[in-house]
Formats: sequence, structure tokens, C-alpha cells
Amino acid sequence: MQFIDEFRNPTQVKSLLSQIHAWVKKTSFTAEKPLQIMEVCGGHTHAIFKFGLERLLPPEIEFIHGPGCPVCVLPMGRIDACIEIAKRPEVIFCTFGDAIRVPGRQGSLLKARQEGAAVRLIYSPMDALTIAEQNPDKKIVLFGLGFETTMPSVAITLQQAKQRNITNFFVFCQHITIIPTLKSLLMTPDIQIDAFLGPGHLSMVIGTHPYSFICEQYHKPVVVSGFEPTDILQSIVMVLKQFANKQCLVENQYRRVVPDEGNPRALAVINDVFIMQGDDEWRGLGIIPDSGVRLNETYAAFDAEKHFQPKQQRVADDPQSRCGDVLTGRCKPLECHLFGKQCTPESAYGALMVSSEGACAAYYQYRQGEPA
Ligand code: SF4
Repeated sequence: MQFIDEFRNPTQVKSLLSQIHAWVKKTSFTAEKPLQIMEVCGGHTHAIFKFGLERLLPPEIEFIHGPGCPVCVLPMGRIDACIEIAKRPEVIFCTFGDAIRVPGRQGSLLKARQEGAAVRLIYSPMDALTIAEQNPDKKIVLFGLGFETTMPSVAITLQQAKQRNITNFFVFCQHITIIPTLKSLLMTPDIQIDAFLGPGHLSMVIGTHPYSFICEQYHKPVVVSGFEPTDILQSIVMVLKQFANKQCLVENQYRRVVPDEGNPRALAVINDVFIMQGDDEWRGLGIIPDSGVRLNETYAAFDAEKHFQPKQQRVADDPQSRCGDVLTGRCKPLECHLFGKQCTPESAYGALMVSSEGACAAYYQYRQGEPA
């Protein structure tokens, strides 16, 4: 298939749905005890709701919306640290679209901008480097955010900054890594996940092999999936076939984009600049061991936190919000009392409502007004 319409072809969709209905009958899942598939990536969550896929599936299949949206798991204390840096008179703070609206305890970067801080929206990390070259009397801070998907472009920007000897450029490193988070979810006893739809974009960088432990140690199937309706439905067929055939494998539905071995050049640039080190806090999920990502010693001079030394703080999530429960499948967004009232995309309480990939934003856009 070459064109996007082919991945949304109604005949194909109908054919895959009848395969799903046939295969689910060969498993032990029921409407009362459905197959719970966690779609790790927020891109999948939005595709599922945009195309109404969850309504087309039999009641024996239920989606759990996972933590693979980096903006959704941004802790409040980290936003507060960014705001502290952004408010310094010598700083221009550069960030991507969604992150500017994520609330911390001190408000958001957008609010800081309205109050006079120099916060700029950028479209690429290299934009921040250009701003640094154009403003030698200022200190430019790039908000480095995201999983292995975005780490290569930030790493290349840092390599360029080093090669060009640009000394007024810094990165606030809020990168995170997915595998420890999946481990942490699997080790939590009350979280019921039967299988995973593996993230497509992230896997393009890391490949499919890092998910092997999910099958080997936890006996759950993983299918790395694309984002179009036929991709997601075909991935569900692949998951069901594994259950029906009593198999447990990592499979790659998104082979047209994801090589099993990942992208060696992207991995090399990540390893040149970053070190996976220490525990990290995830909004709604708490501290996750070994999920931290830092700049390594070679790039320490570009580390915004080492340079500006903002207060390190942990801010507890509001007990009224159920962001963590949504991220772990313990509840659906409509079951949060704040949904659509105090928490809307315009006045978000939690980050899941801010991000274009957040589960609450997806429900708000496509399912608002339905009973919980
Ligand atoms: S509705 Fe808002 S507060 Fe509730 S879970 Fe979603 S993002 Fe969090």
C-alpha cells in the first residue's frame, strides 16, 4: 500500500473486523473479562478515537490508554523549574507547542510568557540553536522533552552546538525512556494488562528487541503497530492469533517503518550525548527506577540545570485528579470528576488534557457528553 486512503479502505476495515470477531471466539476472553490491550503511545489513542475503532470492536476487547505521551507525564515540579529559569532576564526559553500549556504549581510556561518571560515556541531543536547564534547576549534554553523518538534531534543539535563552540545554548533535559516504565507497570499488581500495542515512532529508533522481556518474563504479547485504522485492526488480529495459538511473541506490524534492529545511527547519536541514569519522576506515576536520562559529562556545559541550578522540587498531584489512574488503566477519563468541568483543554488541570496525544484530550474531542 502506498497512499493513506488505502490504510483507511472500508473494505479492508470490514475484512479485518470480521477476522477480529472470528479470532476472539477462539480465545477465552469474554465481555465480562475482556482482553485488555494497552496502547502505549498517545498517537494510537488518538487514532483509536478519531476513527471510532473502539466502537467497532467486540465487547471482548478493551483498550487501556498507556503512558507513552511525554507531555502527559511531565511532573509539576519540572514545569516549575522551567518557569524559574524562563523568568531570568538573560534567558530565552524555547519550547514545543503542547508543553507550553502544561500546568505546574506556579502556572504554565504560557502564563510565564504572559507575565513577561521570554518563552518562544519552536518547531525544531535547531530553531533554538539559530536563536542562540542570533542573540549572543542572551542565554538560550531548549526544553528537551520526549522519549527516544525526539532524543536524536536534540542530540544532533547539541553536537552542532559543541562543534560550532556556541556557549550561550543550554538544554533542560526532560527526556525519558520507555522500557523502565513498561517494567514498572508490569510489576504493579493491581494493573491488569493482557497485551501491548507497541509504540510505532519510538520503536523506529529502538527497534522491537527491547520489548522481548515483556514476553519472556511477563508472558504478554506485544505487537508494534502503525497508526492508521487498518494498522491498528491488523495488530489486534495479530494479538488475538497469539492468544488463540497460545503463543507469546514480539511482532512487528509496522514493518514498513520500524526495523527490528531500530535505527543504529539514531541510537549512536543518543549514546554520544545522553546517559540513561538514575530514577525519574513521572507525573501521575511517581518515581520510576532507572527511567532517568541526563546529558553526559562531555555535554555537561550545556546542561541548563547545572548552569542555572533551579530549585529541585517534587509537587504532589492534586488528589482530585485521576491522571495516574487513567495512565495505568485503573479508570477512563470520563470517570474523573474534573473531566469537562474544571478540566478542559482551555483550562487544563492535568497534562492528559493538554497534550494533543493525551487520553483525556481524545475523550474531550471525540466522546464528550457520554456517560462515564
Ligand atoms: S480530566 Fe483532567 S484531571 Fe482528570 S484525569 Fe484527565 S487530565 Fe487528569
